[in-house]
Amino acid sequence: MKWKQQILGMKPYKPGKPVEEVQREFGLDEVVKLASNENPFGFSPKVKQFLAQDQSHHEIYPDGYAQSLRTAVAEFVGVQENQLIFGNGSDDLIAILTRALLAPGVNTVMATPSFSQYAHNAQIEGAEVREVPLVDGNHDLDGMLAQIDDNTAIVWICSPNNPTGGIVPAAALKAFLAKVPSDVLVVLDEAYYEYVDNEEHENAVPYVEQFPNVIILRTFSKAYGLAGFRVGYGIAQADVISMLDPVRAPFNNTVLSHKVAEIAIRDQAFIQQCKELNKEGRKQYVAFCEKHNLHYFHSETNFILFDVKADSNVVFQELMKRGFIIRSGAALGLPGYIRVTIGTNAQNAKFLQKLEEVLVEQGVFA
Ligand SMILES: *Cc1c(COP(=O)(O)O)cnc(C)c1O
Repeated sequence: MKWKQQILGMKPYKPGKPVEEVQREFGLDEVVKLASNENPFGFSPKVKQFLAQDQSHHEIYPDGYAQSLRTAVAEFVGVQENQLIFGNGSDDLIAILTRALLAPGVNTVMATPSFSQYAHNAQIEGAEVREVPLVDGNHDLDGMLAQIDDNTAIVWICSPNNPTGGIVPAAALKAFLAKVPSDVLVVLDEAYYEYVDNEEHENAVPYVEQFPNVIILRTFSKAYGLAGFRVGYGIAQADVISMLDPVRAPFNNTVLSHKVAEIAIRDQAFIQQCKELNKEGRKQYVAFCEKHNLHYFHSETNFILFDVKADSNVVFQELMKRGFIIRSGAALGLPGYIRVTIGTNAQNAKFLQKLEEVLVEQGVFA
């Protein structure tokens, strides 16, 4: 058949192994998944209450305009309703953006390692992918600027960056945006925005007014704990949204996901609580790394990437046998490192105990 040349040999996204599969494979009663940066504290109790008594009409198509959710998000973010686009997760928005802007003969600039779906989707569209290595875990903004030319259509900024966890400071980001040509779309992926607590960070929504070529992506999958519902949103000027909307599938969320996301965004107390608990949990990892002299990247997120001074694929396997699924840095472009989602206090403590055991076994610790 006449497959696009560029998809020949492409591999599907490799998600963290499902808990049930690891339970079966290793005969474990309990397996904890700390691989995909989901919220270990679940989701808002208000959503739980709603779901228990829900009587929605699932035989009816969802509102393709997501009116009710749109009103809630516009109010929360502080933009007009026509400045929002909703996706089946922000993954969907990444696909919509690449489909709308990328093609053979066009290029796209991104950091590496960063979120894998930017390059993956760009490749499907046949665009040239220009990857600029991180410097000490941070975006090399000057290096990225140097890669932009007349054929560049999208520049991706992941802040905080997955898998390293740090932000692009506001001052540097604004200086960068001022230098990017106005006909190049800058995608600011803020999947972990809710966790950020840093003086050098500021709300990026006003950038959208100042720079018509900026779109911000956010998601209900991480801090909101609703990864299973698949809702993400983009914030941009109305003109940008109206170009993207025809590329979006008409019913790309569900009846239930709209309702659940709306309830969730109105419960900011839950988000604040998770942010605090996450901050405490992250300290457990930082303390472990400092105690054992393991290099780690400063994280503003619910995950942390650190050096295990061993083959990270082996460490990954050994941890799995002990009931913990994490991400090997080898799969993320940082061999020797592991990326671990911050769990509950008890999960973190148990995990670090198992990790210590593995690293003793691997001869890393005496
Ligand atoms: C998890 C993640 C996404 C995708 O999230 P969705 O579940 O599709 O909303 C996008 N970008 C980054 C950086 C992520 O870590």
